[in-house]
Amino acid sequence: MARCNQAVVITDADNIIREVNDAYVTMTGFAREEAIGNTPRIGKSDRHDSDFYARMWACLTHDNYWEGEIWDRRRNGEAYPKYLSISRLLDETGSVVNYVAMFEDLSEQKALESELERRMHYDSLTGLANKVLFHNRLEHEFSVAERHKRSVGLVLLNLDRFRKVNESLGYLAGDRLLQAVAVRLADNIRKTDLIARDSESEERSADTISRFGGDQFTFILADLIVPENAAVATRRLLESFQEPYLIDGQELFLSASIGIAIWPHNAKTLDGMMNCVEKALEDAREAGGNAFRFFSETMNQLSSNRFLLESEMRKALSNGGFMLAYQPKVDLATGQISGVEALVRWRREDGRMASPAEFIPIAEETALILPLGEWILETACRDIHALNQRLGREISVAVNLSARQFQYGRVPQLVDRVLAASGLPADLLELEITESMVMRDVIEVIAILQEIRKRGIGLAIDDFGTGYSSLAYLKSFPIRTLKIDRSFVLDIERNPDAANICDITVLLAHKLGMNVVAEGVETVDQLKFLLSIGCETIQGYLISKPLFLAELESFISNHQPIPGLGTTELWPAIPD
Ligand code: C2E
Ligand code: MG
Ligand code: MG
Repeated sequence: MARCNQAVVITDADNIIREVNDAYVTMTGFAREEAIGNTPRIGKSDRHDSDFYARMWACLTHDNYWEGEIWDRRRNGEAYPKYLSISRLLDETGSVVNYVAMFEDLSEQKALESELERRMHYDSLTGLANKVLFHNRLEHEFSVAERHKRSVGLVLLNLDRFRKVNESLGYLAGDRLLQAVAVRLADNIRKTDLIARDSESEERSADTISRFGGDQFTFILADLIVPENAAVATRRLLESFQEPYLIDGQELFLSASIGIAIWPHNAKTLDGMMNCVEKALEDAREAGGNAFRFFSETMNQLSSNRFLLESEMRKALSNGGFMLAYQPKVDLATGQISGVEALVRWRREDGRMASPAEFIPIAEETALILPLGEWILETACRDIHALNQRLGREISVAVNLSARQFQYGRVPQLVDRVLAASGLPADLLELEITESMVMRDVIEVIAILQEIRKRGIGLAIDDFGTGYSSLAYLKSFPIRTLKIDRSFVLDIERNPDAANICDITVLLAHKLGMNVVAEGVETVDQLKFLLSIGCETIQGYLISKPLFLAELESFISNHQPIPGLGTTELWPAIPD
């Protein structure tokens, strides 16, 4: 019969067990008496679906033989892998006489395999990926990024003066230090959210950190939207060294040198990228350590500009460098100014005014948007409430929210605080969000939006038509206002498609109970058209450019409703 480590089960034509051997008893834990009279299903696990067993039976019926790996269950409930072969024995008339199953327990083998794989692919000291696995993942990320037309950052980090630690404290302390560094680095890199989180792409690539041996660590910054983002992530890595490490009761301060190479800009192959990143690391070390360097000069330039901008912004936030301008909106039914939109401005140290398009994206990447966004909201509510009190008006204020603020800023709590502090009634505040912000994480977003709406605060979709959502989709959100993007308004007179889009947007918005603001209205003809299609509110240079508070106050005080608006004789009376 079979080798003694093979379990043997013999069943009859009805698949009832008639005999088992000792190895079966040892392996499965079922006693011979328990097994006999039962079917082999007593050892069935829930690891396979019914298709799996159907295929097995189809094969047995067709070939009189099946073999393969299968998970079964021991008597104590433990699932285990085994290698099973089943033969179907027929008599001379072709009727089934017996099934003979033989199997071998694979659990030990599997454990060994995974141990081997662990040893081959992971660093035993830190548990991080090793060089082999890292190279493997890196190549995978290159191919993912190629499909998504994105970049991949390769980061090589070397601890400064680590040899000194080893020499003075001994290798054991050195090992413990490396473990602590690994934990902190892994923690840190996972927190970065500079990497595209494409909910649609199933192959969302994970950032990977590895220990390359010695005191060198590597990172993959997968799926970078813009290569400069690598600098932001890397700066965070360096900052993680600011806290000392506690080893054997001693505080140790460490620093690191970091090289960065960007695929495919610096090199397209694995070897090429490794050469680039080593060269970049060398540059960082030559600079005296505690620094990072890109492989190419242009990238160094880009990242240092960005860094300067970021630190100047931080300063501006604490010493009044940011200001708010307010752009009036006119209610077309009354011709009166009904609200304003707050638009942030930054007076740079050299006196130049920077536009939000230049600095909001950087504020977003560096999380500066959170304090900046709070300042904007507080200032806007305070300013407009004070203005209303002085003028005896009920002007509303719209504030733009950025995606990151929306994701991390705990907006409902923030508005509660700000409204209470400023005294502005909730229904005079409107928050502008973009289509792409509501397209993410739909369930969570709806919950936040509902929280906001519950308070009586208005929600507007900004730049409507430029995102990839549809009105039908947006109807499940508690949106009060749609702002037709400037690009459509701009084209109203030249391009019938743009005019049509405006027309249909207004129609649909009204069906869904939303009102419409047209942005960027510059000409009387645009205004006439917008009136004719039933748009409620306009905003744009035709009314006014964004104004600082004092100018706004006198603008509102002196504003005369556009002649013809607010009467039954609507637009024909508007002068050209
Ligand atoms: P947005 O929210 O769509 O703001 C409207 C932009 O159009 C403003 O540019 C405004 O000055 C400009 N604009 C208004 N009327 C006209 C017009 O008739 N013609 C033309 N050509 N332009 C007009 P701005 O102030 O440069 O802001 C640009 C974008 O920056 C804003 O677009 C908004 O997305 C963002 N932004 C502005 N302020 C803030 C803020 O406080 N927080 C956040 N998160 N983003 C802001
Ligand atoms: Mg806006
Ligand atoms: Mg807009």
